[in-house]
Parts: sequence; C-alpha cells; structure tokens
Amino acid sequence: MITQIKGLHHVTSMAAHAQQNSDFFTKNLGLRRVKKTVNFDDPQVYHLYYGDEFGTPGSVMTYFPFPHIAPGRPGTGEVGDTYFAVPRGALKFWKDRLVAQEVSGLDESEVFGEKRLRFDGPDRDSFSLIEVDNDSRSGWQSGDIATSEAIQGFRGASLRLQDSAATSELLRFMGYQQVDSQGNHSRFAISGGNGADIIDIETLQQADRARPGAGSVHHIAFAVEDRAAQLEVRKALLDTGYQVTPVIDRDYFWAIYFRTPGGVLFEVATNEPGFDRDEDIKHLGESLKLPSRYEPHRAQIQQQLEPITD
Ligand code: ZN
Repeated sequence: MITQIKGLHHVTSMAAHAQQNSDFFTKNLGLRRVKKTVNFDDPQVYHLYYGDEFGTPGSVMTYFPFPHIAPGRPGTGEVGDTYFAVPRGALKFWKDRLVAQEVSGLDESEVFGEKRLRFDGPDRDSFSLIEVDNDSRSGWQSGDIATSEAIQGFRGASLRLQDSAATSELLRFMGYQQVDSQGNHSRFAISGGNGADIIDIETLQQADRARPGAGSVHHIAFAVEDRAAQLEVRKALLDTGYQVTPVIDRDYFWAIYFRTPGGVLFEVATNEPGFDRDEDIKHLGESLKLPSRYEPHRAQIQQQLEPITD
C-alpha cells in the first residue's frame, strides 16, 4: 500500500459550450474560474478550471469544451457522480437557488448517512452537493453566496463499474479503505486527505458501457504533494503491473496517467506549482494563458476559440 495520495486533485470533464460551461460553474455554483488555458494536446480547445479562491487541489473541476461534441451516454467504466462538499445546513439554500435557476435533475436523498442534493450540469453531467461536518476548507465567497453556503471543494466521486473487485483492490493499494457499503454501493475513504476523500463504487453488472461525450468525466486526478512523491507512486504502480505514462508537465501541476481495471482513467497530479505560477492570485482565470510552446501561435489559437465573456 502507498501512502502518498491525499484525496482528489481535480476532475476533468467534457462540455459542448465554453460560455455556457463558464457561466454555470461561476454564476450558478459560485466557483472561481482559476485558469483559462487550452487543452495542451489539442490547443484549438479550451481547458477551463474552476475551484476555490486559489484553485486548491481537491477543489478543481476542469473542462474541455469541444464544440459540436455529441452528448455522452452514461454507463459503466466511468465516473458516475462528482460530489461537492458544502457546510452543514447549506442544502436548503442550494435547493432554493438551483430551483430558481431552473437547474434540472434535482433530487434530495440521504446516502451513507449524508444529506445530498443531486443536480445536472449544463451537459447533464451528474453532480451532488453533500453536507459535510468538520470540513475546515472555506469556499470562494462570491456574489450572493456566503461562506456558510459556498462549495468547499470536492467531497469525492463515484465510479460506475461492471465488476468492482479489481478497482477496489487498486483503491486499497492507493491508500483507501472500505468504510461502508449499502446495496450495490461501496464507500472508500482515505485518511489524512485534503477533504476530497471519498470514492464510492456502484456495481452494475448488467449495464452497458458508457459512451463518452459532452457531460462525461474524462478522468479523475488524485493529489500528491510533490514530484518526489509522484515518482514513488509511479514506481509502485509500475511494479504492480500498471501501464503508467511518463511524467507530463501540465504547467500548473505534473501529471501521470493510467487506465484502471474498470475502465476509468486515473491521473496522479502534484500539488506544486499551482495556478498562480503564471498570473497573480487576484487575476486568476481572467486572461488566456498558453504553455510556452504555443505562445508563438497565440493570435491563431485565439481566433479559433469561442470568446468567453465573464
Ligand atoms: Zn487531469
């Protein structure tokens, strides 16, 4: 078992419309857009990052808005639901707010002893707000959302799998422990994490595999403190037989990727250097940032991107 993983780092999904996506996460959910850059592997597409004031690992929801992408079809082998943590008592505020904003898919329930409010994202992405006690993280105070209600970061995510055995074993290897189960749902948690500590597995033996598209999660990333810890995790995964990519520079963190037995793409990302690497904290996410190799092509890249107004 490895001990370097500290919970989630970010969750990356696909969207159909950049402006609609930015509006939903900043205006409806009150997250801060902490970076406006491009997909480093496909610079004609934005990579938009939303999180708390600093883009703290464990709070960062990111999107590739692909114009003309078809909607995804939910199924197995993917992330099912992404969970955001909110303070105890905040769900009433959120229910009223999301109803007033005509957000679809609202459903209140209690799962694993926690109150949650499920809702759809702009591409029918599946999210839940979960009331959590003793979460010391404070959300980004913006507009009409007070810190007593603001999203504090991720609580975690659920995986939908045809067979959970191998992925459960992988999570245990990564430092997670199974802490509960309910029907076909198993809950794993990491101790000493950053708050984004939960992974649930929903086992659906008969379901079809997901077809990725708009509203689908592309991958989830787990946090490690620094590059030394990342190299230790990479070696441990390779020694266990996983095919892991080399370390890739994503400017705001360093990344490695590997496909899990259930089909979900996992990443391990460093907490360093962070989103203030190339712009002041006061102005995060305002101007288009490009990795240095694309800087000479800025004018051409900018022309191909749909403008985003705030
Ligand atoms: Zn990523």
